[in-house]
Amino acid sequence: MDVLLTYDYELFFGEDAGSVERCMLEPTRRILDVLDRHGAKATFYVDAGYLVRCQGLGADERGRTEVTAQLRRLRAGGHGVELHVHPHWEDAVFEGARWVMNPARYRLADFSSEAADRIVHSYSDSLSSAVGQRPVAYRAGGWCCQPFAHFADALFRSGIRVESTVVPGARSMSRGRGYDFTGSPVAPWWRFESDPLEPVRGGRFVELPITAMKVSPSFYWRIAASRLARRSEDRAFGDGRSLTGDRDRLLRAMTRTSIVPVGLDGTKAMTLRTARRVARGRGPLVAIGHPKAQTPRSLALLDAFLAAHPQDRFVATRTWYEESIGEATSDLASRVE
Ligand SMILES: [Zn+2]
Repeated sequence: MDVLLTYDYELFFGEDAGSVERCMLEPTRRILDVLDRHGAKATFYVDAGYLVRCQGLGADERGRTEVTAQLRRLRAGGHGVELHVHPHWEDAVFEGARWVMNPARYRLADFSSEAADRIVHSYSDSLSSAVGQRPVAYRAGGWCCQPFAHFADALFRSGIRVESTVVPGARSMSRGRGYDFTGSPVAPWWRFESDPLEPVRGGRFVELPITAMKVSPSFYWRIAASRLARRSEDRAFGDGRSLTGDRDRLLRAMTRTSIVPVGLDGTKAMTLRTARRVARGRGPLVAIGHPKAQTPRSLALLDAFLAAHPQDRFVATRTWYEESIGEATSDLASRVE
């Protein structure tokens, strides 16, 4: 079975953005140490707004240089470097040696279609020039890919062919940052035209959903317990603070069954143990994590998962697309409009 390990490569967006070294560079090196031991490849969905904003403001030159160097190493090592869009970078400022975020306009849908178009193209272009290859896959920041039709043309014209945000069955009521995937098909992948929840035969995009699983409240009790215990193996490498709502959501989830993505972060990486059963041997299995949220425990769980399934193929999203869909992505660059 094909297994796609995917990481959203980014800083934090709450009161403290954290440092490039601790949120991106160091945990990514640690992830690579584990992957290299097993010859596994992963995909990094890079928060390209960071690169664009650094350049636009002439700020954080050192961080941008180091991130660019790491992204080039990832590509050279056969890992995927794809597009992750958090458009609220448009409103971020760099003050004293730190980023100050303003998440008021959090979703691409919060911008006019002209602005969304410009954002998609500039983020995609900046990633292309950083690694010398156009991204072919897209993941929305904070799962906010709706309404997709608002920016579908821009993504397609910038060379994107794969959408990998949907977590079938999941929903968040979070104000201004919600998403609703309850109407999603449940299949390893499908084609669509402008709404990822509506399959269209021969559609221009491929939806490659993040594998979802049902968990009982005990899953969240274990997460809460590990937070309370404050063991060093559960301490995340990232040194910033998340946007919010985490605590309320956690309390709600502790009382009912919920649908969660197969995860690679912290205690949530325990989902890897049953993930293959959820995918029922039908690949690809798509798991999601973040370098900033890695902990010694999550890395150990990843290591154990890789060691337990040497027969699986741990490939980058781009490789999966080329082999399973049968389209060479090297041709895409010439077709960018
Ligand atoms: Zn993100």
